[in-house]
Amino acid sequence: MAEQRDPYDVLGVSEDASADEIKKAYRKLSKKYHPDLNKDPGAEEKFKEISEAYETLSNPQKKAQYDQYGFGGNQQGFGGGFSNGGFDFGGGGGFEDIFNSFFGGGGTTDHSRTAPRQGRDLQYEMNLTFEEAIFGKKTSIQYTREAQCKKCHGTGAKEGTAPVTCHKCGGRGFIQVQRQTPLGRMMTQQECDVCHGTGKEIKEKCTVCHGSGHISENHEIQVTIPAGVEDGNQMRLQGQGEAGKNSGPYGDLFIIFRVAKSDRFERDGAEIYFTMPISFVQAALGDNIKVPTVHGDVEMKVPAGTQTGTTFRLREKGAPRLRGGGNGDEKVTVEIVTPKNMTKEQKDILHKFAEVSGEDPTGDNSIFEKWRKKQRKKK
Ligand SMILES: [Zn+2]
Ligand SMILES: [Zn+2]
Repeated sequence: MAEQRDPYDVLGVSEDASADEIKKAYRKLSKKYHPDLNKDPGAEEKFKEISEAYETLSNPQKKAQYDQYGFGGNQQGFGGGFSNGGFDFGGGGGFEDIFNSFFGGGGTTDHSRTAPRQGRDLQYEMNLTFEEAIFGKKTSIQYTREAQCKKCHGTGAKEGTAPVTCHKCGGRGFIQVQRQTPLGRMMTQQECDVCHGTGKEIKEKCTVCHGSGHISENHEIQVTIPAGVEDGNQMRLQGQGEAGKNSGPYGDLFIIFRVAKSDRFERDGAEIYFTMPISFVQAALGDNIKVPTVHGDVEMKVPAGTQTGTTFRLREKGAPRLRGGGNGDEKVTVEIVTPKNMTKEQKDILHKFAEVSGEDPTGDNSIFEKWRKKQRKKK
């Protein structure tokens, strides 16, 4: 399948174009390239492309899907959703292969040797910055995979020829052999050495893949990383793994996200944690301060008399929830910074402050003694 172009580009409209603008652009272009009116060699292809683009953008559901996921939208699911770890990389029948090698492909497994089988799943590790994981991004990735040979469409046979039923095994993929064992002679089954279990024999091999039906290709795909992914999350891209056997479907690609830590924020799911240093004057008198969030600085009120370690909540200033439903919160814990290396003037003012407060740091009137008396009263 040819790479599908961005439908906005095809229609020459911006991504925020209204339904009316999209319709107008489509009318104009479809008139220009209509095969009945335009006899240029590329016109028909162009007309088809325009119609497809319009089909996507005129259907609100398809448009929304494209806007969010691009054309991968249909296949790019989170099949089974995001999960942490727990992979099965065997792909199409790793266990079956083991089974066959032990038992020589008896019973029902003989059928599966010749039946179409899904290709192997692949794994791709993607590194994201802290911000990229929160906001998502569109990117393209490249990797090498076994793909179906385009020349022979996976049959392995030369152009104009087709594989025929294997003459040795009659298409079953296995043969009966007699073996001498300590228990006497036994009939066992083993993989056919002519067709290697496929049941098909290729008389003239494809010149590109030399009969395997597969070629190694450098594959590039566009990936839309949704906002709100976390370290260890995985995303499944259906059909982006390796080509199947016996014309079976492609396996899947699993992208595993590795998210870098932030030097300012801590994150737990959609919640973000931040520690904000404030002066003891701000804490005592109250202040409006600017607090960093992943969405930019936000003004926050510190009420007078705030104690160190107090946590405030900035609603909706956290990371987006992966499954929709807005953002989490940012939780801001204030940490009161005690001044060091004060000038004489500053010290004098604080001594004065203590005096006015009737404070005697070690005596009966110390903060600690006051606190202790309060505790006693409570009991
Ligand atoms: Zn055979
Ligand atoms: Zn081929």
